[in-house]
Amino acid sequence: RNSAEKFEFQAEVSRLMDILVNSLYSNKDIFLRELISNASDALDKIRFLALTDKDILGEGDDTKLEIQIKVDKEKRIVTLRDKGIGMTKEDLIKNLGTIAKSGTSAFVEKMQTSGDLNLIGQFGVGFYSVYLVADYVEVISKNNDDKQYVWESKADGAFAISEDTWNEPLGRGTEIRLHLREEAGEYLEESKLKDLVKKYSEFINFPIYLWASKEVDVEVPADEDESSDEEESSETSSSGEEGDEDTEKTEDEDAEKKPKTKKVKETSSEWELLNDVKAIWLRNPKEVTDEEYTKFYHSLAKDFSDEKPLAWSHFTAEGDVEFKAVLFVPPKAPSDLYESYYNSNKSNLKLYVRRVFISDEFDELLPKYLNFLKGLVDSDTLPLNVSREMLQQHSSLKTIKKKLIRKALDMIRKIAEEDPEDANNKDKKDTEKFGDEDDEKKGQYAKFWNEFGKSIKLGIIEDATNRNRLAKLLRFESTKSDGQLTSLDQYISRMKSGQKDIFYITGTSKEQLEKSPFLERLKKKNYEVIFFTDPVDEYLMQYLMDYEDSKFQNVSKEGLKLGKDSKDKDLKESYKELTKWWKSALASDNVDDVKISNRLDNTPCVVVTSKYGWSANMERIMQSQTL
Ligand code: ADP
Ligand code: MG
Repeated sequence: RNSAEKFEFQAEVSRLMDILVNSLYSNKDIFLRELISNASDALDKIRFLALTDKDILGEGDDTKLEIQIKVDKEKRIVTLRDKGIGMTKEDLIKNLGTIAKSGTSAFVEKMQTSGDLNLIGQFGVGFYSVYLVADYVEVISKNNDDKQYVWESKADGAFAISEDTWNEPLGRGTEIRLHLREEAGEYLEESKLKDLVKKYSEFINFPIYLWASKEVDVEVPADEDESSDEEESSETSSSGEEGDEDTEKTEDEDAEKKPKTKKVKETSSEWELLNDVKAIWLRNPKEVTDEEYTKFYHSLAKDFSDEKPLAWSHFTAEGDVEFKAVLFVPPKAPSDLYESYYNSNKSNLKLYVRRVFISDEFDELLPKYLNFLKGLVDSDTLPLNVSREMLQQHSSLKTIKKKLIRKALDMIRKIAEEDPEDANNKDKKDTEKFGDEDDEKKGQYAKFWNEFGKSIKLGIIEDATNRNRLAKLLRFESTKSDGQLTSLDQYISRMKSGQKDIFYITGTSKEQLEKSPFLERLKKKNYEVIFFTDPVDEYLMQYLMDYEDSKFQNVSKEGLKLGKDSKDKDLKESYKELTKWWKSALASDNVDDVKISNRLDNTPCVVVTSKYGWSANMERIMQSQTL
């Protein structure tokens, strides 16, 4: 077209598209759920704006917030239309090609290593999945603030934008036309599209319609029975048709006596609703199946791996602040969960007010350390017709946050309680508490710990109110854990009589720590020592001072007491001169003190950190700045 303006895709986007076009990835189905998810986002946006300005929805069909899918078998086109917010010319240029999202290169990398496209939506580049099935795509869009435009591209490094003077006016919203590739013909089948919507998009909160053919009985004048209509209808109709035709013929023969009409089957098309728009969180938890929760999680988290979430919690809060919420623990942590920890405050909860989606970037809903959770909150207490900024300040949010944290920690605690293999349950005889049906829960807490343990530790550091609750969730190895994870409760239960402190040691690995001279005496005396080998543990232990009635004691630090030993005093006396000599021999800015030690057995001497000083491990961490 002459009037079209040409643009080049941003380099990373272009690369992504190249890979998609040439991908041998077999699951090309994903394009549909990505388009539906975008349509749903666009509808959420216009519905949100309409809260404060009703006129924004326009009138007539434009007010219907829905998604429509249609196929044109002859032209091999699949069309998706939504009545969402639409895109201005500038939006089209930016969103579909020139501004690379931060996830673009991360996704390209991931795709090259794993070949898995399933998570494309999580990386914010879902739209481009259309090129798995189409070689030419048109996006027609109309936003209230601009004219109607067409974006088009054959994935050849460039796209074009033109003012739309030839298509039907959309009113508002977006229409996406996929010109299917040769091998993607299956997506012209209604049954295929229906299956896909059922499978991936069941929990979209807007109606999804398919322009679907349907067989209907119609009365036609008997003498016009050779019309071509009939032939067309028998072409698309299913087997069993022949019998019907026979009956028609008999009717025909009697035509004289009967009115001059007859019944034929005709295929006509109509909009068929494909999803149940009743929001899952409004339903009674008892009536929602595990499978439904899993599917809901997949669609909410855009995580379409085969894995189930590790846990979920669906509840209603009542009282001053009323809300419903569903929280999920994902099966896996995203690879950048801790990379961006200190820079981003983005929670993964979606906030709805009275069924209307408000935002998924509300940082007031959960503390940072719980950002790995996915889910949603729908509140009836929050006001609807105020700006996001004002909502952010609303006093109810504090209450919501508090309750969400409690529920989240309960949910995590339950993963452990229901896991027959978790440290806290191991002592209990399997038959006592767990049946065969609990097999599925075996090892779930270790899995949780492996993925999100660090978040629990960060929680202990950051959340003084819930520190004790979080400490219960800690798992670690120790001199007595036999290569397995153990807990503080277990440690306490194994404490020697008279033992006051919980002993721990920090370092880079268990192997290194096991050889440490600091452990000699403790081991010999049969005390248990916890190994903390994660860099974050050093920080953790600056905040975790005690648990139940015991204090934590770093065995490489000053202050280690292993119960009274009558020899201590004598030793101190008889080696008085030697310790004096040592102290003067070592420059005083290198050591604070020289003492007789009760922690050694074979090793003659050891360097110990003063009570408030950095441990050797901490020194090492600070030097390498690994956190
Ligand atoms: P994401 O949905 O994660 O933002 P996508 O690649 O799926 O990433 O979409 C890119 C952007 O294109 C969206 O953020 C949105 O701004 C815009 N977009 C895509 N589809 C639509 C649509 N149907 N209506 C309005 N905007 C859309
Ligand atoms: Mg998307």
